[in-house]
Amino acid sequence: MIVAGVDVGSTATKAILLDENHRIVGRALMNTGANVVRAAQRVFAEATAQAGLEEHEVAQVVGTGYGRYKVTFGHAQVTEISCHARGAAFLYPNTRIILDIGGQDTKVIRITPGGDVEDFCMNDKCAAGTGRFLDAAAVTMGIPLEEIGPRSLQYKQTLKITNVCTVFVESEILAHLARGRAPADILRGVHMAIATRSVALMRRVGLDPEITFTGGVSRNIGIRSALEEKLGQTLNVSAESQYIGAIGAALFAFDRCVAAANAGGADGALDRGD
Ligand code: ADP
Repeated sequence: MIVAGVDVGSTATKAILLDENHRIVGRALMNTGANVVRAAQRVFAEATAQAGLEEHEVAQVVGTGYGRYKVTFGHAQVTEISCHARGAAFLYPNTRIILDIGGQDTKVIRITPGGDVEDFCMNDKCAAGTGRFLDAAAVTMGIPLEEIGPRSLQYKQTLKITNVCTVFVESEILAHLARGRAPADILRGVHMAIATRSVALMRRVGLDPEITFTGGVSRNIGIRSALEEKLGQTLNVSAESQYIGAIGAALFAFDRCVAAANAGGADGALDRGD
């Protein structure tokens, strides 16, 4: 039995296919772009092809993310809060706090020992301190997005970046560059600014010894390291961190199959990947 989760985010659309042992058998990721319905269709088609399957062989599809209702072939929709909680709790059963930094918003979710959502807060009024801010910083610095995190770790001093607004970060970075500041020091300041803002958001929901960091920005080692330094603890970051919402959605799809077949659950066999 194969199930799928399709996470249509504001920036990136992700699909995950799980088999009955909860193993990932297919995955795909692409920019969401303007045609959201098409992005959902394409990642699903790509993930099924990768698994060597036909789309009709997928028993249940659950859509999540801001564009979950655009997963026109989906059987159900579940919010991204529930899906991130489900995916993170599956990979890290002891986690109580999830920090999800995506393309345009940041969420902090507190879950119970049983994995239910207990509380959450989010910054979705503007893209300040989110992936889009980092994307803008990378463009202004002329450094590929994948490299800004590693470069930030080469800092000698942390420059203060006062603005986490995507609109103003460009002029602040350009001013530092004009003063001859080292790119690594500027990037360290950029990453620290996001970490400071994220930790402030986390304090509103509460901290915990086991925090799981999800979303595309968790792939950035500079943010992870700045957060760990600010919090004084290590974070759970899976190799699948950008797919955690899609994994959670696929697990909900699995529940639907089990309910339909009136059968018991299966043991998880996903790699934690850390
Ligand atoms: P959403 O679900 O909100 O669309 P994601 O959680 O998929 O967004 O995260 C998208 C963001 O992740 C991008 O804006 C980008 O900043 C960041 N990102 C994606 N891949 C990488 C990478 N390899 N290195 C650093 N950042 C990345």
